[in-house]
Parts: sequence; structure tokens; C-alpha cells
Amino acid sequence: MESLGELGSLAERNEIPLVAVDEEGVIRFVREGTADLLGWTREELLGQPLDCLLPSGWEGTTFLATILESTGELHGKRVRATLVRREGVEKDFILAATTARMPGHRVRVLALEPLAEVPDTVRVPVGASAGARSIARAIPGIGYGHTDQLYRLLFEQAPLGVFYFDADGVVTACNPRLLEMLGTTREKTLGLHLLSLPDKRLVAAVRDSLQGKSASYQTTYTSVTGGKTLPVESFYSPVFDAEGEVVGGMAIVVDVSERKRLEHERDLHLARLETLLDTAPIGIAFLDTSCRFVRVNHRLAEINGRPEAAHLGRTPEDILGSTGAILRHVVEHVLAAGKSITGHHVSTSDLGVEGPWRSWDVSFYPVRENDRIIGVGALVEEVTEHAKAEHERERLYQESRDAVQVRDDFLSVASHELKTPLTPLSIRLATIERKLEQGQPVPLDLVRKARGSLGKLTVLINDLLDVARIRAGRLTLHVQRVDLGGLLERSVAAQREGRPGPVSLRSSGGPVHLDGDPARLEQVFDNLLDNAAKYSAPDAPIEVSLEVGSDHAVVSVHDRGIGIPEEQRALLFERFFRARNASSRSAGGLGLGLYISRDIVDRHGGRISVESEQGKGSTFRVELPLSQARPHQETSKR
Ligand code: ADP
Repeated sequence: MESLGELGSLAERNEIPLVAVDEEGVIRFVREGTADLLGWTREELLGQPLDCLLPSGWEGTTFLATILESTGELHGKRVRATLVRREGVEKDFILAATTARMPGHRVRVLALEPLAEVPDTVRVPVGASAGARSIARAIPGIGYGHTDQLYRLLFEQAPLGVFYFDADGVVTACNPRLLEMLGTTREKTLGLHLLSLPDKRLVAAVRDSLQGKSASYQTTYTSVTGGKTLPVESFYSPVFDAEGEVVGGMAIVVDVSERKRLEHERDLHLARLETLLDTAPIGIAFLDTSCRFVRVNHRLAEINGRPEAAHLGRTPEDILGSTGAILRHVVEHVLAAGKSITGHHVSTSDLGVEGPWRSWDVSFYPVRENDRIIGVGALVEEVTEHAKAEHERERLYQESRDAVQVRDDFLSVASHELKTPLTPLSIRLATIERKLEQGQPVPLDLVRKARGSLGKLTVLINDLLDVARIRAGRLTLHVQRVDLGGLLERSVAAQREGRPGPVSLRSSGGPVHLDGDPARLEQVFDNLLDNAAKYSAPDAPIEVSLEVGSDHAVVSVHDRGIGIPEEQRALLFERFFRARNASSRSAGGLGLGLYISRDIVDRHGGRISVESEQGKGSTFRVELPLSQARPHQETSKR
């Protein structure tokens, strides 16, 4: 082995990898182990130009001159430079250079200390560019390989914080972004003992990397050297040397403030949407493309009568049975056609739900993400009140139309009815007038008949006035002790007059007393007897009976007349109602008698009812409470 002269002892003492190059740039000495670092054997390297270890574009002698220029003579400062391994991978070294004398010639000696800081994993050798060389010149003494240069650019300018640490967890390098993020300086950061920092997660991640494992975590980090606090996400990984030994680690630190801010904004936005969904007075649901619920709000859960959670992952059919099946078809249609369907009507009766009737309007909308349909949104609005109001409006409209019809019918009947007694009355009065003018005697019968017509007119007008009083709640009873038997006898006697057919009265005998308005009770029985006569053949019998119970009396008026069609009996006591078969006979009437009678009987605390068979006859029954059964004696009743 050639002597290294004055470098020899240094080389012997320290086991530093060494390469010595002569003035022509030819490798003259390679220390044991050094060649391995560079991927050559020692024998192969000896005699080769130094150029074979340099990034392309560099010439051995220039390289050496540059290195020496920047380091000075022996024990000059160490510089960083890039050498190229045999297979083309660039590797960073700290170089210490000096000149030494070997027998026969002067040599330049390079001590090589590999840097684990930049992982040497790039397999694609890149030729040196003018840019790379100009950077190398700009930083005196440092020769950069092009690949490394790209690495370095990435390292320096990456929008991520990057730092390297050695096997003891001491920071050996960091990029500007990291310093900016943490608000610190390179001086404070380099040499920092990471394992002594208070952040437990950082310490754990450094330990993991030094044990050859990767680690990552998110935290709100407070910089020890910069004092700045910010949310970060850190990724740690070990750095291996050529032998696969862990020589340190690297960390990438991402400032996630912006992400956090966006996440916060998104959460806020979502929270607002959620509140809106859950407080909305309409039911809202989202269904996915397989027609399953993915979100249901409170209101819809309430409408469907199932908890929100019970909907998730289920189809409308699962939740609502056959109605759900119909809705599912609608949803499938919306998915297929990509078009909304609005105003679909559903009610409790459709759903088979018990309880009061309710109804809803349901609309379906396709939900898109970047033009792709990802599901269907459903809106369910309760329209029960609206529908009820609609029905009510229709009912009122119908009622008002009926009322107009009734009024028209009434006017035509009333004018006819009023005219019936009015015409003979006017003829009779004209006759009386003529006779009196001519000095002729006026027959009593003529005057009586005129009074009879007037009486009929009075009854009609009184009926109309009574109806008005009843409607206004102003029909007054003048209550006194009444002998019901005597009252009936008077009504029957009046009816017998001028009627060919028999009118009988059957009574259990003895006085029957009650508290009532005699005139109004007489009006009731007169009306029942008049009707019995009006709706029977003139010679058909009319039977009146009075029965007395323990606390009430029952008066029945039975005829063998035309009877009342069954379906019309319920309406008999309504205002202006006249049975279909009544008008077929000549018997006139305003359809007010029974209405007034029922009101009078009701006001006496009694009840009026009818039994009838069409074509055979009718029986009207009036039940009235007796005096002793009535605890309070009233003198007047409204
Ligand atoms: P009206 O003046 O038309 O008789 P009412 O109120 O007394 O009015 O009777 C109402 C309707 O009831 C009558 O138009 C008639 O159709 C029916 N009606 C009442 N009484 C009898 C009866 N005894 N036999 C058959 N129909 C009757």
C-alpha cells in the first residue's frame, strides 16, 4: 500500500472512509470500506478518474479545486457534496478535503462521511443541468448532483414542513416551511433533542421511527422554540442507510388549520341543516338508489308512526306496507327518469292507520351529485286541515245551494199557499161590498166563509212568524196548569166540524194535569189533527187517544191516510219539508206545522215521534211530562 505521508497517521487513527486523487484527477488511494460506500470494489476504483464518482457535468479536478477553495488547507471546515454511487444513485456526504504528499506526487485527500439526512432512494440518474451547476457555484464548496438538487428544491420549497433527525432524535435539517409554520428559526431548530420535548405523541412518533416503524398523528402542536400553536398532522418515517440500518428519521408536518377551518365550517353548515331538518314542520327523507331510507327527520318519523332509526336501511314498503310499495314505485320512477314528481296525495285511509282522518301531499325530487343521481329526496306535507277546509267549503257551498233551492221552493209554495185563502177572501169581500152598495142584505154565511179564509191566512202567517221566532230563539211559552183531557176535547170537537169522517177520542178518564202553554199545546194537536184529515180520505176515521203513565202522558193521533215513505220520515220535522207523496194530493201546506210542533213539545220537556206505513196510515205520538213529575214550576219558558 502506498504511503499517505502526512495524512497517513490521521487515516490510521480514525476509521474515516478516504479517497486520494492525484493532480490529474486519478484515484490513487481508496481506504478499506470506502469503495463499498460507493458501490465499487477498491480495485475497480484505483486508477479511475474521480469523474466516475461525480454527478455528470462535473470534472474531477474542478470539483477538487472547488472543494479545496472552500475548505482551505488541512483541517479546513467540512463541506457537503454529492457523489454518485456506481448504479447511479446520488448520495450526500460531508467531505473534509486536504492536500497530502505521497511518494512521487501530491494528492488531494477526501474524507467521506455519508449523510443519512436525505434518503438515497432515487433510482433514476438525472444528468446535470446548467441550473444545477449554477446553484452549485452559488453555494461555494458544495457540489450538488441534479437528482439531489431536485430533492433539495422539493425539500426547500415544499408547502409541507419537513425535518430530519438522527439516530439520537436530534434535528439535523429542516425546511423553511416548517420554520415559518412554527414561527421559529433554523438555529433554534437544528440540534433540538426531540426526545426531550414535552409533546408525548411527538416523542412516541420519533421513537417509532427510530425503531424502523412509520407513525402519524393529528394534534394541536405548540412549538417549544417558536411558541406558536397550530393544528398539525404529522407523518414520521425511519431513514435507513445502505445496509438497512436505521440512521434517523424524517417527519412531514402538515399545517391543517385551513382544513380544520373548512371542517369546522362544514360542521357548522351541517349542524344548521340538521336543525332545519329536525325542526321543519314538513316530513323530509332521503332515499338511496336502492330505495332505502338514509335520513328521516322527526316530523316524518312522527307521520309514519315509527322512530327515525327504524327507517334507516329500510324501504318504504318495509315501513308502510302496501302504500309504501306504491311510494317505492314512485321513487324508482324518479330514479329512472331523473324527474320530480310533486303533489302525490296520501291519507290515513290509504295507510290503513287508525284514528282521526289525516292526509298528506308527498313530493319526490332526484338528488344529484355532479350530474349523477345518488338518490331521491322526499317531502311530506300535512294537508289535513287544508283538505278539511276544502271539504267544509264544498259542504257550505252545497248547503248554500240547497238553501237557495229551499228558498225558491218555499217562495213558490208560500205564494201559492197564501193565495189559496186570499182569492176566495177577496171574491167574498167584493160580493159583500157589492151587496152593501146595492142595499142588499149580506148573508151571514158569506161573512163566516170570508172569516174562515182570513183564519187560514192568519194560521199561515202565524206559522211563518213562529218559524222566525224559533230560529231567533224567541218562541215564548206562557206556562200554566193545563187540563190535557179538556184541551184535547176542544181540538177534536173543532176537527169534527165540517168533516164527514169520524174523529174519536179515547181517554183513560179523569183529569190529566201538566204545566204548559195551553195555546201552544192546542196548536200542536190542531196541527196533528189537521194533517190526519188532510192526508186521509174525507170519510176515513181519525182516532185520538190519551194515555197516562206514572210521570207522563201520551197523546196519539192515528189516521188511515196516505202514510209517509220510510226514507222521508227522518226529515218530517225539518222546516219546509213536505213528503214526496203529499204534493200528489191536493192537500196544501208549507211544511212548517211539524217543525213548529216539535219545537213546542221540546220546550215542554216532551217528545214527538211518528210511526207510519205508506198507503196505510200514520200515528203521531206526543209524550209530555205530568205536573208532579216536574220539580220546578215555571211561569214562563223560552
Ligand atoms: P204541511 O203543512 O205540509 O202539512 P207539516 O209540517 O205539518 O206541513 O207536515 C210536513 C209533511 O209531513 C207534510 O207535507 C206531509 O208530507 C207529511 N205528513 C204530516 N202528517 C201526515 C200524515 N198524517 N199523513 C201523511 N203525511 C203526513
